[in-house]
Amino acid sequence: MDVTRDPRYDILFEPVRIGPVTARNRFYQVPHADGMGYRDPSALAAMRGVKAEGGWAVVSTGETEIHPSSEASPYVEGRMWDDGDIPAHRLVVEAIHAHNSLAAVELSYAGMATANLYARTPPVGPGHHALDGRYAPIQAREMTLDDIADLRRWHRMAVRRSLEAGYDIVYVYAGHSLSTLQHFLSPRLNHRTDAYGGSLESRSRLLREILEDTLDEVDGAAAVACRMAVDEMLGPGGYTVDDTRRLLGLIGELPDLWDFMLGEWEDDTVSARFGDEGGQEEYVQGLKALTTKPVVGVGRFTSPDTMVRMIRQGILDFIGAARPSIADPFLPSKVESGRIEDIRECIGCNVCTTGDLTMTPIRCTQNPSMGEEWRRGWHPERFTRTTRPGKIMIVGGGPAGLEAATAAGKRGYEVVLVEATRELGGRARREATLPGLATWRRVVDYRTGQLDALSNVDFYLESAMTGEEILDYDFAHIAVATGSTWRRDGVGHAHRRPIPIDPEADVLTPDDLLDGRRPHGHHVVIFDDDHYYLAGVFAELLIGEGYAVTLVTPAPDVSHWTHNTLEQGRIQRRLLQLDVDIVANTAVDAVDASDVTTRCVFTDRMGRIPADSVVLVTSRLPNDALAADLRRLIDGSDGPSVHVVGDAFSPGTIQSSVWDGRRFAEELDRPDLRSILRRNVSSLDPVPPYPITR
Ligand code: ADP
Ligand code: SF4
Repeated sequence: MDVTRDPRYDILFEPVRIGPVTARNRFYQVPHADGMGYRDPSALAAMRGVKAEGGWAVVSTGETEIHPSSEASPYVEGRMWDDGDIPAHRLVVEAIHAHNSLAAVELSYAGMATANLYARTPPVGPGHHALDGRYAPIQAREMTLDDIADLRRWHRMAVRRSLEAGYDIVYVYAGHSLSTLQHFLSPRLNHRTDAYGGSLESRSRLLREILEDTLDEVDGAAAVACRMAVDEMLGPGGYTVDDTRRLLGLIGELPDLWDFMLGEWEDDTVSARFGDEGGQEEYVQGLKALTTKPVVGVGRFTSPDTMVRMIRQGILDFIGAARPSIADPFLPSKVESGRIEDIRECIGCNVCTTGDLTMTPIRCTQNPSMGEEWRRGWHPERFTRTTRPGKIMIVGGGPAGLEAATAAGKRGYEVVLVEATRELGGRARREATLPGLATWRRVVDYRTGQLDALSNVDFYLESAMTGEEILDYDFAHIAVATGSTWRRDGVGHAHRRPIPIDPEADVLTPDDLLDGRRPHGHHVVIFDDDHYYLAGVFAELLIGEGYAVTLVTPAPDVSHWTHNTLEQGRIQRRLLQLDVDIVANTAVDAVDASDVTTRCVFTDRMGRIPADSVVLVTSRLPNDALAADLRRLIDGSDGPSVHVVGDAFSPGTIQSSVWDGRRFAEELDRPDLRSILRRNVSSLDPVPPYPITR
């Protein structure tokens, strides 16, 4: 690689020893969920391999179950249950080693955080407890000393298999409230009176024993890392960072590396709406001084200057990243080659966590190739040059049009992008002006930066195109990326036909609010039948501007789908703290001039809520008139090919628009790819059954 990096960043490229192995730089992709796990081994290997290719010196797996007595079904995590799992892991290791990076495996035993729905055996934990984090009619059973001995044996077996698979770093995991080792540490959960409960020394005994077992088992053939939650974020009743300070006095020298994170997944992976870069610093600061072993920590780091500060100030030895490595697998190599402006910065939307939480392969708003490396053959940086170059007009400069133009430009097409308004960015630019969504701007900035560098792509602003105008030019292909429009008639999940709306009523849609229109009067009812972030954000916006706001939702809680982005609890808390009146399990059935008619979704009991204005956040219609117009004008004659992309095809998330833009550019000259989705084989080795360790 042509190394022209800024000398300020040299420190980030120093090699660092981790016990018996050495990382070639300080960029460390910490374990993160991928929604692929045991089900999609080939896709997983390709995805992790791309991270190594992009310069991450350490690339880790996600959570990897060591035994079926703690299995996360229906979630799709990694498995190291038996020898049959080794070939799939070898694939991952080989893909990482192919680029000279170290491969790390996060062995996990989640105990009372798993329901064992597949295995059906009761989960276990430090005591007889209801399952953590879910309202399931399942209890965890208190572990006996025999259970503890079993767990230690199973962990050893998993370590042995990890070595056979070729991993360089083996994790002992005590984080995210997803580990029995952490459950034992917690005074909230561990009420034992035997040698494993009581004082911190006793509560940490299981962690110490497993660390010692792991060190013994690897016997210098791999490094041993310990990932732990430094604070449960539950206040004095829980395990706190003071406990971690004392713990480091007890076992600080045991593992070869400490990987520090915070609380549960919701505390660790805070969206940009609720936390900034480096959000864990105040907790992790000072811990490194309590051990001689290298320390990795996370904080949605995308700024090389912040990274350098973390190292120089002695807070971290490694820059840990999950999301920044998902948004840009090539972040390290871009810093190394002095291409800072090419970094595709994570926007902190947490769409990446929705893969794991919906049991589907990982996806990313900024990086459309994430999860598609193997099954569609997309790469975050490399684009196959088209063998049939031609001129493309892309109409609409939103996320879909911008990505289509960028990707088609990189594939070697001549591209003209036209946008009706004075600025590129579409909904991403408009929504970035709302409370907490400023990072949405990065979707636009990254792509406009790329377009500027492509001499074969031009764009024109303030160019609202009609079908006739487009056909006046000589383009081989037209991509219509004209976006979507929010409905004004109440149609969404609850209503499949328009609801009665008094013509005198002041009704607004998200488009109106984004255009700067504001409700009349004082009391606004927001009807959220969209269930993603916008209705909650508008409630925050309007209450901040002095309105009284009632948010009505047919769902049990606000912004319901954001359970999948780990934000729902924070959104509900913020709206309640702002005194938004939340009316759940209720639909708005009709809008009158001064109130709305509501209906309980369970009982159909009707009610009324006074409203000076109503904001309907329900669903959208595609802006597909232009495409229809073009098709009518062409009408079988020898005109350009017409493609509809992004929200104009089918309204969705910004992530889905970006992905569709890339898909258009990838498949334009290869229509045969459209029907192909490479499937993983379910087993890599056809010689089952493998005995499960008992
Ligand atoms: P998507 O997420 O699919 O990209 P957006 O709504 O964010 O959708 O963006 C659509 C963009 O298309 C907007 O910036 C809009 O101004 C632009 N647009 C819509 N109609 C036309 C048109 N006829 N000519 C040019 N630009 C258009
Ligand atoms: Fe960042 Fe969003 Fe991509 Fe996740 S999905 S890595 S939060 S940009």
